[in-house]
Amino acid sequence: MKLAKDPFSESFVIYVPSRQNRPEERRGEEIKCPFCKGNEKLTPKELLRLPEKGDWQVRVVPNKYPILEPHEVIIHTPEHDKSFLDIPFENARLIFEAYKKRFNYHKKHTEGEVLIYANTGEEAGASLLHSHSQLIVLDGSFKPSFPKPQPVENLVEENEFFWVYCPSFSQWPYELWIKSKREVLFGEIGQEELVSLVFLLRKYLKRLKQLHEITHKFKIPFSYNWYIYPKKPWYLRIIPRFVYHAGLELASNLTANIVSPLEASLAYKGVEKDYAKVLEKLEKLGED
Ligand SMILES: [Zn+2]
Repeated sequence: MKLAKDPFSESFVIYVPSRQNRPEERRGEEIKCPFCKGNEKLTPKELLRLPEKGDWQVRVVPNKYPILEPHEVIIHTPEHDKSFLDIPFENARLIFEAYKKRFNYHKKHTEGEVLIYANTGEEAGASLLHSHSQLIVLDGSFKPSFPKPQPVENLVEENEFFWVYCPSFSQWPYELWIKSKREVLFGEIGQEELVSLVFLLRKYLKRLKQLHEITHKFKIPFSYNWYIYPKKPWYLRIIPRFVYHAGLELASNLTANIVSPLEASLAYKGVEKDYAKVLEKLEKLGED
C-alpha cells in the first residue's frame, strides 16, 4: 500500500495493487461465493453475527482485500440473490444494528473516521453481487473530507427523527439524503430511529428503482451507492448511478446534473405533472 498526496489540496490517492487479485463476479458467472450460507469458512474470522444465536442473517468479517486497515464487510443476507430490497424488514434492520455495533466499536478503539458505505450494482463498483456493504476506518492523517451536511431543501418527507430531501447541491440525478434531526454521531442512533431509518431507506430505494425502470433508456443497470457521514449530525446519502460522470466532472469541480433537485423531490413524492417534465428532459438527453 502506497499513499500519494496532492500537493495542492487535501486529496489523497491510495495505491492498492493487491486488490487486483480480488474475485470479480459478473451476472451469469459462477464463483464459489464466500458470503453465502454454508461457505462461512471462506471468509476471514468473523467479527460479528446477528442474530447471535441460531441461523445468522447478517455477518461482519474483515475484508480479504483491504484498502486500509481495518476494512470490514457487512454481509447483508445468507442468500446470494436477495437484494437489500428483497430481504425481510427484520433482516434489513439487523444490517443497521450491525453498523451501529461496529461503528461504536471502532469509535472506542481509534481516533479515525468510521465510514460505512454500500456499492450496489456493477456501475457502483460492487465486485461481488451478493448484497453487502463495507466499513473502513480513515486514519486522522488523511484529513478525509466529506460533503458537509447540506441545508434541508426540496423536502420529500419528514418525521420526528429525520428529514428526507434532495439537497440543492445534488451532484447526481435523484440524489437523496436522510438526515438526523439530532446533532449526534450515527453510533448514537436509538432503536426507534433505527427502525424509522430502515423504513425510509427501503421506501425511497423502491421508489428510486421505479424511477430507474422508467428511465431504462440509459441502459445502465440499477446501481447506487450509499454512505453514512461519519461526523455530526450524521446523514445517509443515496447516490443513484443512472448516468456516468464524464470529462467535465473528471476535469473540474463542476457537475452537470440533468435532473434538478426540485424535480427529483417531486418525483420521489410521485407528483405526476412534474414527473412528466422530468421524463421530457431525460428524453431530450437521450437524443443528444
Ligand atoms: Zn453469495
